[in-house]
Parts: sequence; C-alpha cells; structure tokens
Amino acid sequence: MGQEISRRTFLRGGIAAAAGLAAGSIPGASAAAAPQGKTQLATLLDIGKCIGCGACVEACNETNAHKYPNPRKPFPKMYPNRVPVEDWSEKQDVADRLTPYNWLFIQNATVNVNGQEHEITLPRRCMHCVNPPCVKLCPWGAARQLDNGISRIDSDICLGGSKCKKVCPWDIPQRQTGTGLYLDILPSFAGNGVMYKCDRCYDQIAGGQLPACIEACPEEVQTIGPRDEIIQKARALAKETNGYIYGEKENGGTNTLYVSPVPFEELNKAIEKGKGKPHLKPVKDTMARANNLTTAMVLAPVAGTAAAVGKFVKLTKSSE
Ligand code: SF4
Ligand code: SF4
Ligand code: SF4
Repeated sequence: MGQEISRRTFLRGGIAAAAGLAAGSIPGASAAAAPQGKTQLATLLDIGKCIGCGACVEACNETNAHKYPNPRKPFPKMYPNRVPVEDWSEKQDVADRLTPYNWLFIQNATVNVNGQEHEITLPRRCMHCVNPPCVKLCPWGAARQLDNGISRIDSDICLGGSKCKKVCPWDIPQRQTGTGLYLDILPSFAGNGVMYKCDRCYDQIAGGQLPACIEACPEEVQTIGPRDEIIQKARALAKETNGYIYGEKENGGTNTLYVSPVPFEELNKAIEKGKGKPHLKPVKDTMARANNLTTAMVLAPVAGTAAAVGKFVKLTKSSE
C-alpha cells in the first residue's frame, strides 16, 4: 500500500488529522502533547500478514495491567443466589480467549479454499462499533464512546450488570465479580462487579502514542487512521490481494476492519467459537432496531444519575 498510514507515520499524520490539524504540523518528537481529536479513528488488520507470534497480546497485557481488576474477597453473597459469580483473578494467565485480564487473543484456523490450504491467525478484541450498542444501552452510562470513536467502560461507574455484553453482537465485555462501585452501594442486591474489554489504549492515543498492540507487532499487521481513509485502504488491499473485508458493514460499521485472504464465511466455520471467543458472522445493525432505540431513550436519564452517583462515591472515598 503506497500511501499507507503505518505506525511510523501515524504520529505525524494520523493524530494530526484526527486532531483537526494539518498533517505534519505535529513533529513525532512532540506528539506526546497532541490533543485528542474528533475524527473517528479506525484500525485495519491485514490478516494475511499475521504470523500469530502473540507479541500484540503480550504488549496489551503489559500496557494495560494497571487497569485490570483487583477484587476484594470473599465476594458478597448475592440475592437471588442465581446471580453468577465470575472470578478470573485466579486465572489471569488464560490467553486463548477474552477475559477481564486478557483483552486481546489470537484465533487460529486452517481453511481450505479451492484446494489450497491457508493457515490463518488473527488478533481478536472489541470491534469498536461506530454506533456501539454497549454504549447506547448501558443503563448506567458507564460505557462511553469518545469523540475519536473509541468505546470504553468506566470501571469507576460500571456495576457489572453485563447489559453491554448481552447487546454486543460479539459478546466482547467480560465480567469480574468483587470489584467496583456495587461494593459501596448494595453489594448483595445490585450489580456484580465490573465489565472489562479493550479500550483501544485510549490513554496512549490521548498522549500521542500508538495502541500497544500496534506498536509491538513485528509484521505491521495493523494500520490506524481516520475511518474514511482506513476504509479506502481496506478496499484497496482487498482488491490487490483478492481478499475479503469484515467490519465495513457489520453492526452498521465498526472502527475495526479486517482484510482476509479467505472468505469470512469459511474463516468463521474454521475458528473455535464460544465463551470469550467471538465469531466472524455477518452482523445486522443492532441499533437500527426500533425497540432498542426506544430502550436507549428511556434509559438515558438513568445513565446521568448513575454517573453522578458514581462520581459522588468516588469523591467521598478519595476524601476519606
Ligand atoms: S504481533 Fe502482529 S504478527 Fe504477532 S500475533 Fe499480533 S498481529 Fe499477528
Ligand atoms: S464490539 Fe461489542 S463491546 Fe465492542 S464497541 Fe461493539 S458492541 Fe461494544
Ligand atoms: S488497542 Fe490497546 S487495549 Fe486494545 S487490544 Fe490493543 S493493546 Fe489491548
């Protein structure tokens, strides 16, 4: 790709464009002070380049470990007792699926297309939907979308009710019990922990740096930049390699676009799917469904109240 926004040019071009500044006006060395922009940033993942080395997973863990849960035990007894405890604190090394301690993992597949065998590896994490149901339908306003398109869950506000996971077409957010705001409110009756997922290293980006998984990849599998440009890159790459695109239309469009050398229908059949292991099926636009929009509108005032309660509890705790 000739004009590719590589990880080296992102600091000059990508963030500058996202910040609404002229490309090149932010020298790489001083980009750490670059403001966060309003342009939606998307990532392109060229699956054909991925060698499955896991450097991205390791980098994600190292960079984001300080955001991982540190649950208080024993967990409060829940009423009704059908409310499940989800505890990953003793399984923090699990790396073959998404967990509250592993926001990125590598999926493997062997796909046979027209008699040719393809060994495929691809990194999986939150798709960062353009119109994210996890954000729009979170009853407490804990899931938010930043101006640059990143969706993240505020662990200070989240009560762990897992609505975000139920409405996510890929079941991405993962729950840890025994942590978060619910412990300070009605620990046995409301909430059950905090939901965790990839926040696309929003703090790194705000500081003018690349997400850790992009920076660490030896094959430059990922490219990041304004969504319009990333879509053009994805289309050009697909044309050049006779490849296939996932994410341009899924769930109304995502800020994560995969280009694969094999059809996603075949890839989806070949990958291991299940809890914490998202599929690659076509996905209709969740938020286009009127009933969900109605729910979102009804819930909106509640979200503001919950955010205020969360801030109050946090302030009270910090002043103690
Ligand atoms: S670091 Fe790059 S090549 Fe290695 S598994 Fe991750 S995306 Fe693939
Ligand atoms: S993939 Fe799921 S968790 Fe990620 S933004 Fe979309 S709805 Fe939210
Ligand atoms: S963008 Fe950041 S949080 Fe998301 S998978 Fe990559 S390293 Fe992890």
